[in-house]
Order: sequence, then structure tokens, then C-alpha cells
Amino acid sequence: MMRLVLLGPPGAGKGTQAQFLTGRLAIPKISTGEMLRQAADRGTPLGVQAQRYISRGELVPDDLVVSLVEERLQEPDVAAGFLLDGFPRTLNQAETLDEWLASRRQELNAVVDLQVPDDVIVDRLAYRVVCSVCQAPYHLLIRPPRTPGVCDVCGSPLEQRADDPAGLVRERLRVYHERTAPVTDYYRDRGLLVEVDGELPVPQVTDVIVRELTARVLARS
Ligand code: ADP
Ligand code: AMP
Repeated sequence: MMRLVLLGPPGAGKGTQAQFLTGRLAIPKISTGEMLRQAADRGTPLGVQAQRYISRGELVPDDLVVSLVEERLQEPDVAAGFLLDGFPRTLNQAETLDEWLASRRQELNAVVDLQVPDDVIVDRLAYRVVCSVCQAPYHLLIRPPRTPGVCDVCGSPLEQRADDPAGLVRERLRVYHERTAPVTDYYRDRGLLVEVDGELPVPQVTDVIVRELTARVLARS
């Protein structure tokens, strides 16, 4: 049973690691970015509202994101644990999540902070493409798909994310430092933070995370 959060700036590799960690740890991932983009693609009222913020590189208001996550956390597949990717992103979201879990006698086991400097992020996101259907991320130079333009996982077309042009990435990094960096301190103060070098190659990052989490679980048993 593991309840985990993946923290880190946009482009730190959260989605990439989530893809591998769900298999290694046998827990489902909950990605708020993916859920919001899918809602926007479907044109639901929530999606239409969220898109206004996403397209400006801003955070979607807490109440919208929190209700989406709380609904998802009540589905049966997450009863045995989950990996949150991209949530919480504000102190208010973190506190609300804690209260929600505590009211069900649950708590987080660890929060993994993927550390990558801003200049590396800007470089990475200039080359990111994602699957238009399953949203698996690729890097055109470092982690290209087997067939150009086609998703390895589901065979659908790849596309650039609308919020990945450099100007918007700078804005998203600004928002990250202002609103999300305090969430890192919040979890550090609670002894939950596991800091990981996100500049290592993808498989090594996965290995370090699994090793650190295993060590924590063993230390507590
Ligand atoms: P996030 O979900 O945190 O926004 P992604 O997982 O989409 O980040 O990764 C951002 C970009 O960086 C993608 O193009 C991905 O292929 C690439 N990437 C992810 N992890 C690494 C890594 N460890 N080294 C180099 N590139 C990476
Ligand atoms: P991501 O896919 O995690 O990079 O998220 C893409 C965009 O979705 C962000 O820039 C925000 O606009 C929005 N978003 C995702 N998760 C959250 C969240 N927890 N709180 C607020 N906005 C979010």
C-alpha cells in the first residue's frame, strides 16, 4: 500500500516517471494535468473553464482541481494506493488533501521531489511531444518514439502541447516558484520529502525512486 505524490517543476519528468512507477509499484497514477486536458478536449464545462487558465500557463483554481481529485480518489482502483502526478500544486491543495485523507484515516507515505534546474526545463520542453490520446511524453532528441510522430504505447499521433512554447514555459516556471515551491517545504517539514536528482537518465531516476521508497517502507516496518 503506497500513497505517493510526485512533485517538481513542469518538465521535471513527473509524467515520464509515473508511466514506469505505476508498473514497478503496482499503483494507478492520477495526473491532474492529463485529466484537465482530457476534459478540455471533450469540451465539458470544467474543461472549458480549465482551458482558459492552462492556455495562459496559470494554475486552474483550487476548487475545480480539488473536486476533480476528490472524485477520482473515491474510485475503487485507488483504494490500495495511488501516485499523484501534478497535484498538489498549492499549499491550499496540499492542506485540503491532508484533511481529506485524514478524515478517512489515511495518509501519504512519501512525496518525491524531482529536482531539475530551470534552464534544463526550458531545453527539455522545447523538444517534448506527447501522445494526442494517452498523453505519453517523448523527447524528440533524447527519448524519441520508435516511429516518428507515432506513440509507442497506443499508436496514436504525437503532438506538441499547446502550453509548451518557450514564453509559456517561462510563465509556468514563474508560477511554479511562486505557488508550488512552498508545497515542497510543507512536505519537508512533515518528514515526507524524498529529493531525487531529475537530471539523471530516465531509468536511473526510476531506480533511485524505487530504492528510496523501499528503504522508507522497510525503515517503518
Ligand atoms: P512533467 O510531467 O514533469 O511535465 P515529462 O515527464 O513530460 O515532465 O518530461 C518532460 C520532457 O523531458 C519530456 O520531453 C521527457 O521525454 C523528457 N524527460 C523526462 N525525464 C527525463 C530525463 N530524466 N532526462 C532527460 N529528459 C527527460
Ligand atoms: P501538467 O500536465 O501537470 O504540466 O499541467 C498542465 C496545466 O494544467 C498546468 O499548467 C495548470 O494550468 C493545470 N494544472 C494541472 N494540475 C494542476 C493543479 N494541481 N492545480 C492547478 N492547476 C493544475
